[in-house]
Amino acid sequence: MNIEYELLPEEQRRKLPEDESTLGFGKLFTDHMFSMKYSEDKGWYEPKIHPYGPIALDPAAVVLHYGQEAFEGLKAYRLPGDGICLFRPDKNVDRMNASAERLVMPQLDKDDVLDAIKQLVTVEKDWVPHSPMTSLYIRPTFIGTQAELGVHASTDYLFFIILSPVGAYYETGFSPVKILVEETYTRAAPGGTGFAKVGGNYASSMLAAKLAHEKGYTQVLWLDGVERKYIEEVGTMNFMVKFGDTIITSPLTGSILPGVTRDSVLQILKDWGDPVEERLYTIDEVIEAYQSGDLKEAFGTGTAAVITPVSELCYKGSCMTVGDGEVGPTTQRLYDELVAIQYGTKDDPYGWRVPVC
Ligand SMILES: *Cc1c(COP(=O)(O)O)cnc(C)c1O
Repeated sequence: MNIEYELLPEEQRRKLPEDESTLGFGKLFTDHMFSMKYSEDKGWYEPKIHPYGPIALDPAAVVLHYGQEAFEGLKAYRLPGDGICLFRPDKNVDRMNASAERLVMPQLDKDDVLDAIKQLVTVEKDWVPHSPMTSLYIRPTFIGTQAELGVHASTDYLFFIILSPVGAYYETGFSPVKILVEETYTRAAPGGTGFAKVGGNYASSMLAAKLAHEKGYTQVLWLDGVERKYIEEVGTMNFMVKFGDTIITSPLTGSILPGVTRDSVLQILKDWGDPVEERLYTIDEVIEAYQSGDLKEAFGTGTAAVITPVSELCYKGSCMTVGDGEVGPTTQRLYDELVAIQYGTKDDPYGWRVPVC
């Protein structure tokens, strides 16, 4: 793929944020973006790195009416010595293709997309922040653009990548969160789109999240959509518990998102020789473990926060304190290990770091 470059002259580029502690998440974007188009007769065409800015869409575009959209989320990390790397980006491209297939969108060429990410990050390398635990968030996005109101897959598409420097997730230290186990709403059902990173999944989860926020919870924990008893995942994270010495997480049933962080955590735990079970488990099992003193730890896994410790789970009006309500030892050790691999402060036995420049 031959990417065309249309770069802003130096004097039109914005100043990089001086205070990296105010970055937050996904509020500020870099000077350039990547985009390419697709049509049935041409295939993928016009790959280009160009100034960041609004995109023109016909008001009848399929994405605006029927939500034909898939996205990804990964990060570029600054290494000691100032190099920049990605973390397992091939998994994100594979997952985007799985999401695209589910929404009848064309497949992306894996090498082309990895190349586009690397070239764009290289152009914007000064935007990768330097402070501990900051990073450059990468958001590949894929939308149906054909202007027609008939309900069918678009014939035309736009794929683009935008970049956002993001702050340290835990500004005030690695602090545990309170989670509401959702009883009324569900996120995904068998045969649906739960395994895909597609916009519609998030639109339909916002009401439950809003109501939970109003009651003082950070996120909701979803139960399965059929029996409302199996634990699935949290808003934008996979979920794991530790009963006694064993870490348990839901298998990839089709209704949960196959997280890259989840996969990495499972591999690290297996290498440490810690007992791990990928199996269905119910909210009742969690309650029993709590009552017998066996609910030692719970945490979420995802690219944005890496590992999110959970201090309390509330269900049907009663709350369970996880362990002693503090960050558990496995939670802390996994966080430290993953962060060290991502930021290059220890060696990478798995080959997960992919150098950019
Ligand atoms: C993105 C996401 C995750 C986490 O996936 P990672 O690849 O680890 O970032 C988990 N659940 C949902 C619903 C997600 O959207």
